[in-house]
Amino acid sequence: MPRIPELRAKGSPAHKAPGRTRADRPASCTLVKVVTGHGMPRISRRSGSAQGRVFLVGAGPGDPELLTLRAMRLIEEAEVVVYDSLVSKEILALVPATAERIYAGKKSGNHSLKQEEINKLLVGLARRGRKVLRLKGGDPFIFGRGGEEMQFLAGHGVAFEVVPGITSASGAACYAGIPLTHRDYAQSFVIATGHPRKGVCELDWDMLARPGQTVVIYMGLGQIRQICAGLIEHGRRADTPVAVVERATTAAQRVIVGTLVTIAARCARQNACSPSLIIVGEVVSLHGQLSWFDPAQADTGLRKTGMSARLV
Ligand code: SAH
Repeated sequence: MPRIPELRAKGSPAHKAPGRTRADRPASCTLVKVVTGHGMPRISRRSGSAQGRVFLVGAGPGDPELLTLRAMRLIEEAEVVVYDSLVSKEILALVPATAERIYAGKKSGNHSLKQEEINKLLVGLARRGRKVLRLKGGDPFIFGRGGEEMQFLAGHGVAFEVVPGITSASGAACYAGIPLTHRDYAQSFVIATGHPRKGVCELDWDMLARPGQTVVIYMGLGQIRQICAGLIEHGRRADTPVAVVERATTAAQRVIVGTLVTIAARCARQNACSPSLIIVGEVVSLHGQLSWFDPAQADTGLRKTGMSARLV
């Protein structure tokens, strides 16, 4: 395979020092995405500019041990952090005390900063030469509006990078012992948002109700009754197992299990709250056997021995 040459200025410190990370590139030779008249981004060199850069980083579902190495490094080096409500307090505790923290969180119906304001804030900080850590829960490109924020930056000629995170579907499924696929139960899985538009869940019900498929619904707890009814109406068996995983991967994780018929009432009875994911499919039946994570041990670092503790 021929090597693709790196886009670095010859003779620059970054060119000479192979150990440097992209984040370390000096401003004199950084690469900037510029939007052309056709709206297509292209890479160009920017020279001598003091402009900063935005790092859109996925913080994962909550457990700090699920951060990527790249996310961890950027957190440790952070100058200014703009973070959402889904970023766990354990992860925020890793931000250096010297860093400026700006809360841009949104809770349903209670927006502390409007999306437009967040977009402008990021551009403003970068233009003042700041290295901005934009920290989002889960993966920034999955239901996180990360795409919209980066479009805004691209449109304003601001340099950015995106660091993937473990999305909550993956974190919740693993920590609840529910494999999203399994040869005996599910050959595919699909994720969807249950967030209603004008009070109605506009979902592709026929696609979601297919048999042999696991369905993970983000932002669906408030509409769980409607979602379960829709799946049954479009052909999914009424006794299909369902799990609601609340605050997945944290010390407060809770898993409520039922069927398409019973889960809504169980959630109401047990006061299920956000953030929660709904997992629908036969794979949920494995939760009883594969559940390994003990939230009570999550803060003590003992959870890795949880399975052996269960077996003795
Ligand atoms: N970008 C995020 C999703 C943001 S949308 C990601 O990749 O996970 C917000 C929704 O994500 C919440 O309403 C909830 O459905 C889900 N979510 C996020 N973190 C969660 C967690 N720790 N436990 C359960 N659900 C979570």
